[in-house]
Amino acid sequence: MDLTFDEREAAFRDEIRAWFAENDPGEEPLHDEDAHYAWRRDFQRRLAGAGYAAVHWPTEYGGRAATMTESAIFFEELGRSGAPLPANVLGLLLAGPTIMTWGTDVQKDRYLAPILTADEIWCQGFSEPDAGSDLASLKTRAVRDGDEWVVTGQKVWTSGAQYSKWCMLVARTDPDAPKHKGLTYFLMDMEQDGVQVVPLRQITGEPEFNELFIDGARIPDENVLGGAGNGWKVALTTLMNERAGLAFFLQIRLRQLLDGLIEVAAAEGRLEDPVVADRLGDLHLRAEVLRLTAYRGLTAIEKYGQPGPEGSLTKWMWSDSNQQLTQFAADLIGPRALRAGDPWAYELLRARGNSIEGGTTEVLKNIVAERVLGLPKAR
Ligand SMILES: Cc1cc2nc3c(=O)[nH]c(=O)nc-3n(C[C@H](O)[C@H](O)[C@H](O)COP(=O)(O)OP(=O)(O)OC[C@H]3O[C@@H](n4cnc5c(N)ncnc54)[C@H](O)[C@@H]3O)c2cc1C
Repeated sequence: MDLTFDEREAAFRDEIRAWFAENDPGEEPLHDEDAHYAWRRDFQRRLAGAGYAAVHWPTEYGGRAATMTESAIFFEELGRSGAPLPANVLGLLLAGPTIMTWGTDVQKDRYLAPILTADEIWCQGFSEPDAGSDLASLKTRAVRDGDEWVVTGQKVWTSGAQYSKWCMLVARTDPDAPKHKGLTYFLMDMEQDGVQVVPLRQITGEPEFNELFIDGARIPDENVLGGAGNGWKVALTTLMNERAGLAFFLQIRLRQLLDGLIEVAAAEGRLEDPVVADRLGDLHLRAEVLRLTAYRGLTAIEKYGQPGPEGSLTKWMWSDSNQQLTQFAADLIGPRALRAGDPWAYELLRARGNSIEGGTTEVLKNIVAERVLGLPKAR
């Protein structure tokens, strides 16, 4: 593919870059989780005010109908500017596109606008204690009761549930059907007695994700997305958007971290050290391969209208590279990088989850082997 921007794309990049230059998000609140969240929410509101909260959404829903390349440019510029990821990232990248694909007109009218303005935050209630990679074995049950469904079960690792108004919930509605077929996708209101959110503190010290205990929660039938029994297909739309959407943001963040590390190495007079130069060179190569592969993934989206299995390749490459980069940073900087509160300590610890979240590396490798390389199925 041609990687040079045409006139329209270059103009779009300049416009976005100028906006970020004029809209400083202010200092990042580092040690107060709620203040940090509010900082991200407020910045998303500014993006929404300028029409930039979801440039990839169609104009009729408040987006800019950006092409895939323009959308990539937006995320690159967001990453480059140092601005935070929008607070409602799961709403913008996952819930919104899934509702656009499967929702009724009434659902689109009701749910899309408050996603853009971060007035209603979304979380993703997929994983359970015994269902992560093998999502289709989930056990949370939803039973019809008149024109409502009654839900009982447990979800886990639900990022941002403590701030969320809505949950993309996948539950089993037909226990007798084959496991992929008995699922339904619901839009569940988190603000009800039957839903209890219990924070889980991570190795970084933050409670980024939670357990959800669901005991008799009620969901009106009109909040089924894509039809009862069709939950697996709807969930796949969410998962494909998850891997594709963030690729550009992640690759530019990797680049920024690497540039920061090169500055540290230079300041300490270590750039001439052949071992350091070798590691930095390798990381530079990885960052470039990731950038180009992310762009190549656009071709699939432009051709088939939705992200393909290539998204799994970029997610795997990014998590592997980010873990290597943060480990090398700790080796280079030494014990100082392990002090509580040091940004490099945070990066090192947070990177551990990279190879688990959004699909484990082993599962992504299976997808790449089978669906990108066409190798025989493992099972
Ligand atoms: C930071 C973070 C945020 C998250 N946020 C959310 C969220 O908001 N919502 C949500 O629903 N979930 C979320 N998750 C959960 C995440 O999606 C799951 O952890 C992930 O899918 C793996 O599932 P699991 O933890 O049950 O591990 P398992 O699936 O039990 O896997 C255990 C091990 O077995 C390996 N394995 C499993 N199956 C295979 C296979 N077929 N072939 C080879 N190896 C295999 C895995 O790679 C892994 O090493 C989050 C996770 C993290 C780390």
